[in-house]
Parts: sequence; C-alpha cells; structure tokens
Amino acid sequence: MHVVVVGAGVIGAACAEALSAAGATVTVVDRSGPAAGTTGAGEGNVLVSDKEPGPELELAQASRRQLPELLAKLAEELGQADVEWQPKGGLVVATTDPQPLHDFAARQREAGVQAHPITAREAFELEPNLTREITAAVHYPEDGQVQPVLLATTLLSAVRQRGGQLLSRVTATGVSKHALLTDSGVIACDHVVNAAGPWAGDFAAKAGAPIPVLPRRGVILVTTPVVDLVRHKVYDADYVGAVASGDADLQTSTVVESTPAGTVLIGSSRQRVGFDDTIQVDVLRELARKAIRLFPKLRNVNVMRAYGGFRPYLPDHLPVIGEDHRVPGLWHATGHEGAGIGLAVATGRLLAELMTGRTPHIDPKPFRTDRPGLAL
Ligand SMILES: Cc1cc2nc3c(=O)[nH]c(=O)nc-3n(C[C@H](O)[C@H](O)[C@H](O)COP(=O)(O)OP(=O)(O)OC[C@H]3O[C@@H](n4cnc5c(N)ncnc54)[C@H](O)[C@@H]3O)c2cc1C
Repeated sequence: MHVVVVGAGVIGAACAEALSAAGATVTVVDRSGPAAGTTGAGEGNVLVSDKEPGPELELAQASRRQLPELLAKLAEELGQADVEWQPKGGLVVATTDPQPLHDFAARQREAGVQAHPITAREAFELEPNLTREITAAVHYPEDGQVQPVLLATTLLSAVRQRGGQLLSRVTATGVSKHALLTDSGVIACDHVVNAAGPWAGDFAAKAGAPIPVLPRRGVILVTTPVVDLVRHKVYDADYVGAVASGDADLQTSTVVESTPAGTVLIGSSRQRVGFDDTIQVDVLRELARKAIRLFPKLRNVNVMRAYGGFRPYLPDHLPVIGEDHRVPGLWHATGHEGAGIGLAVATGRLLAELMTGRTPHIDPKPFRTDRPGLAL
C-alpha cells in the first residue's frame, strides 16, 4: 500500500510514522519543508490538564501514554530520539474564584486524569517564584513537554529509515483516482492523507471535499535564558476557557514554561485574523502583563523575541481523523487547533488503524468528517 501524506508538520509526520510502522510505503510532501508550518511556531506542551472530559481528552490521554513508548522504540530503531521530552507535570492556578478550577479538576478525575488539588504552600514548594496571590492550585503530574520540531523530524527520520521519502517544496493541488496531483507532477498512490494544518481547508476544497478549517492566530514571547525561575508548565485557570471558546476576538491567558535551553516561553494568545502574521505590540504587552502577575520575577527578565503561528481551528474544537465520506481514498488528519503536538501520536495511530482495517484503539466516531459539527 502506497500512501502520500500532504504536510510535514507534526500531524503528517505522526501519521506517516504510524503508517510506515504498519507496513505501508509512505511519501510525505510539503510545499516548504519539515515543521515549516504551525509545528515550528508552537510551544511543546503535551497536556491532559486543559481538556474537558470527552473525545479530545481521550485522544490526549492515549497520546500521552503512547508518546514515551514510541520515543523509546524510535531511540532503539534510530540510535537516538531526543525530542527534549520532559514529563515535568503541570500546575494550574486560580487567582480569583477557586471553585471553577476545583469543579473542572473533579470532572477530569472522573475521566481518569490525575488532578491533585494542593495547598498554596505545596504550590510554592513546586514553584517558589509563583505569585502569593493564588486562591487555588491543582497539580497535574501527567502533563509534559517536547520540542515540536524535533518531534516532527524524529518521526520523519523513522519514516525514511523504513524506506519512505520526504519531498520538500512540492505543493499538493488536488487528487484524482489513485493519485495526488502536485505542482511537480502526479504521484500514484492508494490513499492521500490531508495533514496540511491550517491550510487543510484549502487543500480539501481543491480535492473536492471541503472541511471548514480556519487559522487561529497565537503569539509567544521568549525570554533570554534564566536559571530555575519556572519549573513546571504553569498556567492560569482561565486558559481552559480561552481554549474552549470559539470567539474570533483577541483572548489572552497566561501559560508559562521554561525550556531545556533556559528560555521561558510565555503564551498564549488566540485570535481569528485570517493569515495575518503581524506581531502586534498590544498582544505582546497583554501576554507580558499577565505573566508578570503569575511570576512577578519575570518583570526583571529580558524578552529575546516573539513569534506566532496559526492553529488549525475547526468550529466544534475536535480534529478530523479518518476517510472522507465524499471522496474515497482521501483521508484527513487535521484541525487539532492548539493541541496538535500533544495529540499527534494517537492521531497517527488511529489513522493507521482505520486505513489498515485494524481495531481502533479509541472510538473514531467523534472525529469523522460527516459529523454535524462540520456541516458547511
Ligand atoms: C502559538 C502557538 C502555540 C502552540 N502551543 C501548543 C502546545 O503547547 N501544545 C500543543 O499540543 N499544540 C500547540 N500548538 C498547536 C500545534 O502547534 C498545532 O496543533 C500543530 O502544530 C498542527 O500541526 P499540523 O501538522 O496539523 O500543521 P502544520 O505544522 O502547519 O503542518 C502543515 C504542513 O502542511 C504544509 N502544507 C500546507 N498546504 C500544503 C499543500 N497544498 N501542499 C503541500 N504541503 C502543504 C505546510 O507547509 C505545513 O508544513 C500551538 C500553536 C500555536 C500557534
């Protein structure tokens, strides 16, 4: 079976890896190169803490379980698979009414998430530089972090090692029976996977199977390296509301974490402004102001740079994973919005299971293309 994957971001890479592990011959095409889209412009949080119980949380939990296993397997196969994986845990804090955070954590515990309410003293032991103004804190030991570009390129290395290929600077322009059409010619294949991230709606329309993927802008501030200022992934409880909202207007909520290089990443903003990639000072100011409220010592730390990307957004906040109901042979794996790094591994595995006729490890129905939430 020959499968062509459109898009060498983390989702295309995870699909390609899982398909090649299942025995398929895989070609990945990207109009730029590996991780050149949103994957190279995100953070690397692998979170279960920010998701309401439901299909997305189930996908996140599966992915969280599978990621370290897959990395161990790839390390053996490739000789190394260093993606800066840090199972460091997350800390969610409230600075206003504590009840919504406690209620949310209780619902998550019922869904099998480890969500431990802790005292302020325990929170300060975990994060000594945290503001003293917190009203509640919940520790999520399962949250982790990777370097997204390394994750994508490591998955693609495995694909190549198994005989697959990556074609950079090749733009997919449509599909025909048993082939992908590109600006560099026709590639014969049995299946095409649309993993074109925020541009997946555009490619899907050209392939005759529109899906309503839209870009949702996000911007990150990066500080110069600092020692031991932030230890976990820390965010304000209002982040969950911003993630779940579909509002087009600017929303910011504080998400702070350090990287192995010592820099601190400060997110996150959400805004639907099409593909406008302007870095706006008022967004940066808002991110900085809220981060300083959470970690007052950040006031004295320099910002080194800011960057932004476009989350692939679908109106019902669930990715599509599966074969298109209108165009047989065309599959979609996209719409992961702000969680594609964390959801990639289980997405790839689910898609490969469905394509090869194996029993899916999680219920695929909520991710189908013919669900009511995707009606155009
Ligand atoms: C600021 C920000 C912070 C984020 N933080 C996190 C986080 O902490 N944790 C998390 O899990 N997620 C996070 N995300 C979301 C995450 O980055 C995305 O969900 C994920 O990267 C999407 O991956 P993808 O492979 O679907 O898309 P992309 O990485 O965009 O890959 C799509 C690829 O398709 C290619 N392409 C497009 N059209 C064509 C075509 N016609 N032909 C050929 N190639 C084509 C593009 O060049 C691109 O390389 C964040 C996003 C942003 C913007």
